[in-house]
Amino acid sequence: MEPVLIAPANATLLGIPGMFFALVIPIVGVCLFTYIIAQRSKPLVLAAPDERFNNIGARLINVFKIWLGQYRQPRYKTAGILHILIFAGFMILSIRSLSLVVIGISEGFVFPGLGGTLGVVYNLLKDYAATIVLAACIYAAWRRGVIKPERYKVPARYGKDHTAEAVFVLGLIATLMISESLFEASFVAAQKQQGVHAEFLAPLSLAWFFKNILLFASPGVLQTTHIASYFVHDLTFFFFLCFLPMGKHFHVITSLFNVFFMRTEKGNIKPVRYGTSEEQLDDLESFGVKKFNDFTWKHILDFYTCADCGRCSDQCPANAVKRPLSPRFISIKGRDYAFKHFPLRKGNGSEQEPLIGDIYEEDEIWSCTTCGACEQECPLGIEYIDKIVDLRRGMVDEGMVPQTLQKPLGAIEKRGNPWGKMEKKRADWTTAEGFADAYPVKIIGKKESAQTLYFVDSVSSFDDRMQSIAQATAKILSQAGVDFGILGKDERDSGHEVRRFGEEMLFMDLRDRNTDAILNSGVEQIVTSDPHAFNALRKDYQGLPPVEHISQVIVKNIKAGKLSLNGTETNGKVYTYHDPCYLGRHNGLYEDPRQAIDAIPGIKRVDMLKSRDRSFCCGGGGLMLFYEPEEEQRMGVLRVEMARQAGANVIVTACPFCLVNIEDAIKVSGLEGQMEAIDLAELVALHLPGEQQQDV
Ligand code: SF4
Ligand code: SF4
Repeated sequence: MEPVLIAPANATLLGIPGMFFALVIPIVGVCLFTYIIAQRSKPLVLAAPDERFNNIGARLINVFKIWLGQYRQPRYKTAGILHILIFAGFMILSIRSLSLVVIGISEGFVFPGLGGTLGVVYNLLKDYAATIVLAACIYAAWRRGVIKPERYKVPARYGKDHTAEAVFVLGLIATLMISESLFEASFVAAQKQQGVHAEFLAPLSLAWFFKNILLFASPGVLQTTHIASYFVHDLTFFFFLCFLPMGKHFHVITSLFNVFFMRTEKGNIKPVRYGTSEEQLDDLESFGVKKFNDFTWKHILDFYTCADCGRCSDQCPANAVKRPLSPRFISIKGRDYAFKHFPLRKGNGSEQEPLIGDIYEEDEIWSCTTCGACEQECPLGIEYIDKIVDLRRGMVDEGMVPQTLQKPLGAIEKRGNPWGKMEKKRADWTTAEGFADAYPVKIIGKKESAQTLYFVDSVSSFDDRMQSIAQATAKILSQAGVDFGILGKDERDSGHEVRRFGEEMLFMDLRDRNTDAILNSGVEQIVTSDPHAFNALRKDYQGLPPVEHISQVIVKNIKAGKLSLNGTETNGKVYTYHDPCYLGRHNGLYEDPRQAIDAIPGIKRVDMLKSRDRSFCCGGGGLMLFYEPEEEQRMGVLRVEMARQAGANVIVTACPFCLVNIEDAIKVSGLEGQMEAIDLAELVALHLPGEQQQDV
């Protein structure tokens, strides 16, 4: 039987057999694509080493969850749903696009397995997929071009708007959907016109609509539509493939790999250089990232993968208070740098200027609080903290340390704390009047030993206000019957911020001294009320006994019946819990602090809109307290406003640095008397039996 229409493989175009074009287009497309990818791979090959082939199980789970399952997309509902629809439709239609390439050479080709019932189901699915993807593309283009959500905007300092590229790519995807549907519809319309058995088209799908329109077209129009739509699809498909590595849509290709290689652990910091042991660090000619090739290959893959969606910057507290940092542009500037210095023709990236001063600014890199909100949000597993710490290492190596940080860093080096206070004063908080007699605290050493170490860290040891947290922690431990003690003068700053500010050698010295002191003390476990110390001891140190945050100890002992809390008169108080970044996002502790608060009978607690893994950084701890960034307002001020909007008038923190920042922000906001802040340990201690309850 004669076919109802001439297939592309048998057609003649301008006197040349259609099969010639059907062969040449894919061959040229694939060769060009291979060349482009080879060029784009050059910086990855020249980059610093990275270790990303461990934890294969966790990596595969990330691929299924984050890449295939698009797990993080719905965190932004509208954009997330649009992306899921386009992604799913694309996955379904990629099989069809590939089979169309072969159909140009071999008429009637179908992939093995798609000839029978499965093929009918697939055709139904792909008809609807093409329709949904087209609708999603039209809405996405309208959203980008007309609604223009704030997070897509490009501030003048970062260059030109990126809308045109986004809309162009949506146009290419729409062309693929329309041409595929027309190819199918013209054939079925011809079958119907000639009264032969017609293939089934999904009702109300794009192809179904096209078919109903084409039923009225002449055979010549149907034939032209059939051939033209085929070659438009073929050309668009291979043009699209080669266009992807030219800009932000490179993520269509790289995202699978980037998600596979993304970090599987949170809160940790990469070594100075993978493959170089600590003993060999002295032999390194240069520390950290100074030039582009100093980035690891995963970090360059991150640059290629950034989809420019702006979610990271939208959640970044530094960006929110108008510090000169927007993480999205760390990636985009990195990608543009790679494209410029490793162009598709000529050039091998040998002429590289130092990154600081060329594409990144000193203040930009110091502005980060390492809160992790950007990494938590990115749907493509792009990392920022390690890159920023590596850039800081490079700046420290070049002596580019902000003036305000030089003094505290020097003091930590000399005295083990950023205020330069005498080591022997570390335990002074234990001798406070009214506290010492009721709650004697052991100083572990030659004379005294304990089962549990309370690691206090610098701010709770030396800051007059924060010493109250140390005392509250000691009260809780005592009442829970924990045999505990502190290291006193033998404790040094945990070095958590020292490391994140790029002073790796100083960090190593602090870590080694603390490790020796802890191991020599013979303790079996460690407790701390400082999430920065908690994170450092768990993630930056090795070989220590298990470490717990005081909130975990509180909940554990309440559950075991070893700790009971008195009820509270609410007196109009509404509490809200502020998740500290290094307890929540970096260590996943969201419930224990809330359970500890809720264990106080009669207490009323509400959650802020930005809570748990979307918590908003208070302004940063450790050395961040000494850094004076350029900003329009303090992060803490925004946080206090969020608490007020949630209907709270008491903000409970579980970190001494959060308390410093939030108390300060309450004063700056002029909300003293209307808003209060208290540490979780202080709040719990106030409700211990025998403790006098104050009006907080
Ligand atoms: S870690 Fe926090 S402050 Fe730093 S770039 Fe990411 S979101 Fe911004
Ligand atoms: S880093 Fe991730 S979240 Fe940020 S703009 Fe790029 S893709 Fe979006």
